[in-house]
Amino acid sequence: MKLYNSLTKNVEEFVTNEPGKVSMYTCGPTVYHFAHIGNLRSYICEDVLEKILRFSGYDVKRVMNITDVGHLASDADTGEDKMLKGAKREHKSVMEIAAFYTEAFFKDCASLNIKTPDVVEPATNCIPEFINMIEGLLEKGYAYKAGENVYFDTSKLKNYYVFGNQNEDELMVGVRDDVTEDVNKRNKNDFVLWFTKSKFEDQALKWESPWGVGYPGWHIECSCISMKHLGEKIDLHCGGVDNMFPHHTNEIAQSESYLGHKWCNYWFHVHHLNDETGKMSKSKGEFLTVSLLEKKGYDPLAYRMFVLQSHYRKPLTFSWETLEQTAATYKKLRNRIAAIENDGSVDENALKEWHEKFAQAVGNDCNTAMGLTLLYDVIKSELSGATKRSIIEDYDTVLSLDLLKPVEEEAVDDELKSFVEMKIAERAEAKKAKDFAKADAIRAELAGRGIVIKDTREGVVWSRE
Ligand code: AMP
Ligand code: ZN
Repeated sequence: MKLYNSLTKNVEEFVTNEPGKVSMYTCGPTVYHFAHIGNLRSYICEDVLEKILRFSGYDVKRVMNITDVGHLASDADTGEDKMLKGAKREHKSVMEIAAFYTEAFFKDCASLNIKTPDVVEPATNCIPEFINMIEGLLEKGYAYKAGENVYFDTSKLKNYYVFGNQNEDELMVGVRDDVTEDVNKRNKNDFVLWFTKSKFEDQALKWESPWGVGYPGWHIECSCISMKHLGEKIDLHCGGVDNMFPHHTNEIAQSESYLGHKWCNYWFHVHHLNDETGKMSKSKGEFLTVSLLEKKGYDPLAYRMFVLQSHYRKPLTFSWETLEQTAATYKKLRNRIAAIENDGSVDENALKEWHEKFAQAVGNDCNTAMGLTLLYDVIKSELSGATKRSIIEDYDTVLSLDLLKPVEEEAVDDELKSFVEMKIAERAEAKKAKDFAKADAIRAELAGRGIVIKDTREGVVWSRE
């Protein structure tokens, strides 16, 4: 298995801490609104990564947080509290908003065949763990109290910018939404571990802490939730590319300062889904959701296929035209598979050989497009129908495109319609050539498939028996 590691900027051989086992952490959604299909691009790619690892024989434990507190409008602790914003918008409590959008998120994931991680932990479940880690950071001198908040001191680290050579200006892109400077910070990129002096008078969720009643910052939750369930060393951490700075940079800073050793070996970042105007984001007002795709008549799995056709490390541009094309391709693919008879016996050797080929293809830095190409190779091959179906079933444990599920009536109808129309045209040709035996044979062939044809003054009409 090879994987691009954002830490080293290289495609590397994936070597785990414990042979055969993978500890994997994913930054989960901030549940103040529906997920847009850009967010879901990240979750589809992370789902596929987990499934590739399992396909390659690894035993994976995957953990995801649910951000229900502490995430401000700008990732750098400024701006409005996202959860409060959601609560105000809908005249509900923060916890009601969190419950509603958590459920909506998993419903979207289900329609995209995204597996629920082994552990899902809301941040509000882990306040004692956050307090414990912040105390540790204060004791070790990596944190300081100012203006009644607790901050992480980034100047204590030799290399705070672990992800690279970006200059500070570029790195500050995600931080500019709100220009209010926090005067308590000793250094521009110091970040809040615990707020007690909230600028929100009506801060809904608050807890007792050694520093007064308050609430945690956003970054601390991922470090703590990861450590709680996966221990002090993890193999793999995932998120969208915008999480690299400041969120993941801060997670690494606080986790490694607290632990005193390296924390996570591989960092997997999914590039953005853009629309014609740029990065898809919720702050733009109208945004694309799974239910909007469904309302427009698209199977959400056509969107999954759209994502799998491209590489996760390339930005992807969404348009209705390209989705339309992919939806047609997806439908055709399902129909072609439905037409494969389950005949002959399963060739176990071929099954192994094609499993290996697929593992190689997708195991090369998640090359899902290559995986799809192999799927078409299987369909076109000379293998028996039963073998083909077994291989497709195997591949679908990664692709999760419901490839063997019976095609819906409508899809069958399309195929049937063009078949019957072709036969009617052939029969007309035969009649014209006075080849009545052939014309009768065509009528009989259609009858064998449950189709009755009638010659009327308006032409030939057909119906099911
Ligand atoms: P949020 O719910 O805003 O915390 O974001 C959830 C996940 O979606 C994070 O991993 C983000 O990095 C990712 N994300 C946000 N916008 C996009 C986008 N346009 N394309 C792909 N992933 C995104
Ligand atoms: Zn996170």
